[in-house]
Amino acid sequence: MIIKEGKAVFEGVAIGKLSVFKKTEQTVKREKVSDVEAEVKRYEDARAAAVNQLQALYEKAVKEVGEASAEIFEAHQMMVEDGDYIDSVENIIRSQGLNAEFAVAETGDNFQKMFLEMDDEYFRGRAADVKDITERIINCLAGGGSVGIESDEPVIVVADDLAPSETVQMDKDKILSFVTVHGSANSHTSILAKTMNIPAIIGCDIPLTDEMNGREAIVDGFEGKVYIDPDPEVLAEKKKILLQEQEKKTLLEQLKGKENITLDGQKINLYANIGNTKDLALVLKNDAGGIGLFRSEFIYLGSDDYPTEEEQFAIYKQVAETMAGKKVIIRTLDIGADKQADYFNLPHEENPAMGLRAIRICLTKPEIFKTQLRAILRASAFGKISIMFPMIISVDEVKKIKSIVAEVKNELDADGLLYDKDIELGIMIETPAAVMMAEELAEEVDFFSVGTNDLTQYTLAIDRQNQSLDEFYDSHHPGLLKMLKMIVDGAHKGGAWAGICGELGSDLSLTKEFLAMGYDELSVSPGRILPLRKVVLETNVSEYKEEKGYK
Ligand code: PEP
Ligand code: MG
Repeated sequence: MIIKEGKAVFEGVAIGKLSVFKKTEQTVKREKVSDVEAEVKRYEDARAAAVNQLQALYEKAVKEVGEASAEIFEAHQMMVEDGDYIDSVENIIRSQGLNAEFAVAETGDNFQKMFLEMDDEYFRGRAADVKDITERIINCLAGGGSVGIESDEPVIVVADDLAPSETVQMDKDKILSFVTVHGSANSHTSILAKTMNIPAIIGCDIPLTDEMNGREAIVDGFEGKVYIDPDPEVLAEKKKILLQEQEKKTLLEQLKGKENITLDGQKINLYANIGNTKDLALVLKNDAGGIGLFRSEFIYLGSDDYPTEEEQFAIYKQVAETMAGKKVIIRTLDIGADKQADYFNLPHEENPAMGLRAIRICLTKPEIFKTQLRAILRASAFGKISIMFPMIISVDEVKKIKSIVAEVKNELDADGLLYDKDIELGIMIETPAAVMMAEELAEEVDFFSVGTNDLTQYTLAIDRQNQSLDEFYDSHHPGLLKMLKMIVDGAHKGGAWAGICGELGSDLSLTKEFLAMGYDELSVSPGRILPLRKVVLETNVSEYKEEKGYK
C-alpha cells in the first residue's frame, strides 16, 4: 500500500481505480534524427492513430449529441489528412533532419499563424482547430492514447492540474474524485469537485505515470490522503465511512421541500451555482430555490469559436424553462485570467488576474457583449432570468452597461422579439473598489452578489491560483468579514438585495454570521444546499445579532 498526502478541498470518500489524465499540451524538444525515413514512418503511424481517435470520437459524439455537433471531429480528421500540412511536416523532417514532434509543432505554429492572419473570421477561427489536431498528433507520437479519461467505469482522476477548458470536456459521469499535483484550494478544479459533490485533493505528489492507470485506490477527502493498492483493513475501514456518508446524505434528503428559515424566523434564499446545463439535474436533485450564479463563460470555453446568439439562446432558454419560474441569475462572460479561450486571441499579460478580463472584455468588444445580452434577454421570455455583471469597479461602468442593455432592448423591440421588460440587473462585488462604492452602486442596480473568491484575492493580494500561498490565504480574514458587512449594508441602503456566490457562501462555520449580517441569499454548489439548509434550520440569529451590534 502506498499513501500520498495532499490538501483536501472537498470532503468524502471515493473508492475506485486511478486514471491519469493526459494533458493535451506537451513540451516538444528539437532533436536531430539519424534515420529520417524511420522518422517519417513514425509520423505516418501517429497520423493514422490520430485519425482513428477522431473517428471514435465522432461516433461517440453522434450518439451523445447528434450529427451536427459531431461534425467538428470529422473536420479535424480532414485537417489531419490535409496534403499541405503533411508536406510541410515531412519536408521539415527530411530537409532539416529533425524529429517528428518538432516538425509537427513547427507546422502547427505556421498554419495557426497563417489562419490568424486571414481576413475572413471563419478562417481565423480555424487556428484553434489546427492547434487541437497538432496537439493530438504530438500526443500520439508520445505513445499516448486518446486525450482525457480512458475508462468505461467511473474513476479517480489524477492530473497535474486541470484548466477550466479541460474540465469542461470531461465526461462527469465517469469521475469519482479528483487528485491533482498542483492547483490551489480556490481554483476551478476545487469548484468543480464541490459542484459534483465528490472528494478532491490537491497538492499531492502522486506520480503521473501510465503505470498508475487502473490501480485500486481510496481518496479520503477528510484526511487529505490517497491510498494506492490499499491493505484489506484500510479498505474495510474506508468502506464503512463511505456507507456512513451515504446514510448522512439520506438524512439530508428529508430536508427537501423545507423552507430555509431560522429558529427565530429569519428567511434566506439558498440558490445554486452552475457552469453548464448538465448541472441542472443536480440543482433540482438538491432542491435549490433558484440559480444564483450561472457561469456563462463555460459555454465559451467549451466551444471552438464564439458561440452564436442562437446557440446561447437555446442554452439560456433550457435553463429558464427547467427552473420553471424560479430565479436564474446569468452572469455575463467572465473570460480572461484563469479562464482562457484561444479564439479570443487575448494579448499575453504579465498580470492576467488584473488584466483584460470579464466586463472589461465585454466593454472593449461590445459586439460579443451584445450578442450575449440579446440571447439572455430573449430567453427571459421563458422564465425568471436576471443578468449579473462581473468584476465591476465603478458606477461609471454600470452606467455604460445599462446603456448597452437599453440599446439591445431597443433592437429587440424593433425586431419584434419578446423579453422580460423588467429584467433584474445585478453586479458582482469582487473588487475592493466596488465594496467602497457599495451604496452608490446599489442605487444603480437591483442586486449584488459577492464573489468572495476574487474579492479575497484582490483584498489580501493573494493569487487564488498560487498553491504556494495557501498558508497565507485566510478566508476568514477580519478585513474581509468587515467588507462583507459593509457590502450588505450598502446594498440595503441603496435599495438592492445582497447575496454571496463565492465559495465562502458555503462555509458552514460562517452561515450564522452571514444571516446576522443580513444577507438575503447564498448561492453555493448544488451539493451544499441541503447541508446549508440544515444549519439555517438549527440557527438562532437574534441573540447573536445583538451580541455583534448588528441591526
Ligand atoms: C468569485 O470570484 O467568487 C466568483 C464567484 O466568480 P469566479 O469564481 O467564477 O471567478
Ligand atoms: Mg470571480
